[in-house]
Amino acid sequence: MAIATINPATGEMLKEFTPLTNEAIEQRLASAQQAFEQYRYTSFAQRAEWLNAAAQILDDRKAEFGQIMTLEMGKPIAAAVAEVEKSAWVCRYYAEHAAQFLSDLTIETDASQSFIRYQPLGVILAVMPWNFPFWQVFRFAAPALMVGNVGILKHASNVPQSALAIEEVFSKAGFPQGVFQTLLVGSDQVAQIVADDRVKAATLTGSEAAGASLASACGQQIKKVVLELGGSDPFIVLDSADLEAAVSAAVTARLINNGQSCIAAKRFIVQESIAAAFAEKMTAKFAELKVGDPMNPETNIGPLATPDILNDLEVQVQACLQQGARALIGGDRLSTSPQGNYYLPTVLTDLPPDCPAYQEEFFGPVALLFPVPDLDTAIHLANSTSFGLGASAWTQNADERDRLVNELEAGCVFINSMVKSDPRLPFGGIKRSGYGRELGVEGIREFVNIKTVWIQ
Ligand code: NDP
Repeated sequence: MAIATINPATGEMLKEFTPLTNEAIEQRLASAQQAFEQYRYTSFAQRAEWLNAAAQILDDRKAEFGQIMTLEMGKPIAAAVAEVEKSAWVCRYYAEHAAQFLSDLTIETDASQSFIRYQPLGVILAVMPWNFPFWQVFRFAAPALMVGNVGILKHASNVPQSALAIEEVFSKAGFPQGVFQTLLVGSDQVAQIVADDRVKAATLTGSEAAGASLASACGQQIKKVVLELGGSDPFIVLDSADLEAAVSAAVTARLINNGQSCIAAKRFIVQESIAAAFAEKMTAKFAELKVGDPMNPETNIGPLATPDILNDLEVQVQACLQQGARALIGGDRLSTSPQGNYYLPTVLTDLPPDCPAYQEEFFGPVALLFPVPDLDTAIHLANSTSFGLGASAWTQNADERDRLVNELEAGCVFINSMVKSDPRLPFGGIKRSGYGRELGVEGIREFVNIKTVWIQ
């Protein structure tokens, strides 16, 4: 895949980049290692000052950075600007809390003194996706840099200008040279970077295939990896729920980022007694949405990021329809804009048991409706995929709520709210959605040496 900016709204190639040569990669790894040897001994206060400066740059230039994202991957411009603001938040959050999260932890034993000290590991590789080009990187980088690690970024090949802008933010914020670098490389160059002794660990957000490939490379080298992969999150609505609130959240939860989010609600599992009303209200709200140019502030749904994402989604929807599913709305590309990667907001129902809706992730604006008779069936269906990232459930009944919290197989459960990431809370999945956690106190302790100290 070429490293290039191709406007997904028009198909126009705007800028192409040459992948780094082996010599250039070597230079950057040397620079990262050299930076680490000094940087690891800087104080939390110093790192926090630089990270707060990065947050300020993000705030000051959010319009510019938002435009870069929208141009490269098609999210509506207001959402892109909000993503820059959220990236500033995660910087400020870790600038404020890292010292406390990483302070020595005393453990009473028969030693005269015993404690845990959290220390940096060194150069950490981040392989990141295009769907949240800024947020995904900052949620890795803010904790990593506060620990005293240094970061190298292999961003998705379709968002190179975002990747370079992020490198510039850290550099302008005052971080020493080499502490955070973007490497414009293809995915075929990742294994050789992982194999380098100076790289100590890796993290990846993306598809299962990419995660398996990076985890294998890390396994060969006995290096830790954190994986945040796909999801087919359930959104369960029981008949005691506030239906209006549930439908409003369902629409946002499904269509955020043009439907391309790992924690987007994808399977709507609704109790039969309210399923028809839910479907009708959801379809009516989908019909009101404006699909079009993501640079236009009025637009709700922009194009999908690449022609491949569009084709994959189309194949999935067609397979469901051919097997007997029904589209209540949508079910096709936007015919008036053939050059852009547009797909219409779609609601599918009457999904036959063997169609892709039961097992596959639909990475676009397609809601899958599953009416169920009761709570047991809802939980069973919710859990019957290979994924386990997030789950949202709607009920006013305390017993139902407790069962949902306990029995849903997911890295997070949100009751009467859509699933969302938050710097204060750990984020990650189970099953084939990956392992390890980002964000919160757990996230900052992923790439550290948890050193046990015993003083007799
Ligand atoms: P990928 O998983 O292919 O891309 C994500 C990142 O991984 C990119 O930086 C990519 O680089 C890199 N990558 C890809 N293959 C390898 C590899 N073998 N070794 C190391 N790095 C690799 O996602 P796609 O863009 O192809 O999207 C396909 C599907 O992945 C989506 O439909 C969706 O289901 C899922 N996805 C999930 C995301 C999430 O948030 N969990 C985010 C993005 C995608 P490069 O761009 O150079 O190929």
